[in-house]
Amino acid sequence: MTSYFNFLAMKLYTLYTLFLLFLLGCSQPNKPEAPLDTLGHQQSPINIPSDYQCKYAKKHLVDFHYRPSHEKIINTGHTIKIEYEPGSDVIYDSTQFNLKQFHFHTPAEHHIQGIIYPMEMHLVHQSAEGNYLVIGLMFKEGRENPTLAKILRDTPRYQGRINSDHLVNAANLLPKSRHFYTYQGSFTTPPYTEGVRWLILQEIIEASATQIHLFKQLEGENIRANQQLFDRIVERF
Ligand SMILES: [Zn+2]
Repeated sequence: MTSYFNFLAMKLYTLYTLFLLFLLGCSQPNKPEAPLDTLGHQQSPINIPSDYQCKYAKKHLVDFHYRPSHEKIINTGHTIKIEYEPGSDVIYDSTQFNLKQFHFHTPAEHHIQGIIYPMEMHLVHQSAEGNYLVIGLMFKEGRENPTLAKILRDTPRYQGRINSDHLVNAANLLPKSRHFYTYQGSFTTPPYTEGVRWLILQEIIEASATQIHLFKQLEGENIRANQQLFDRIVERF
């Protein structure tokens, strides 16, 4: 008899739990998308503060080992992206990060002491452990850039991709000086994942007004608004 009552009690308890779960389910309407301010305090892009506000860092070292890659150019409709073949990397503070792709933003996403350059390039790298390092390069109007000329010549004018026999070498897009700003940030496109090490090269490189205009025509304005620095430190090297 006792076991029968125990059984009944268990049954009632289960029903009660299910009822509670049901109530809980009813009281939770569809969750709205998380507002941007709940994303965390390490978001990108940012305005790189004045030199005197940056901490001078002696310990960071970056070594570029970029080789030519066959052109795999994708026009996504909102950016021009060049996928890179394996075999190119940077060594940052003795960790190897493999170059995966580079792409363009018009205008620049990062501001440099309040200055907005007309175009920014992002070289996206990933380590064997899955960590990301992105190198940002600013373009200003000036002489025609021969490497961009090659890329633009082969870029699809509408959404789509081209796999070409032509070679492209990201090394040819780098400035002579390797001084950079560095800070801890995020991707600038959804889901804005944090944990990205950003390096923004200090030397500004040149592209012709026509070249920059063409990127802008193809991509539109593809930038995320500047994010708060919060308690992060920008180091310069
Ligand atoms: Zn980007």
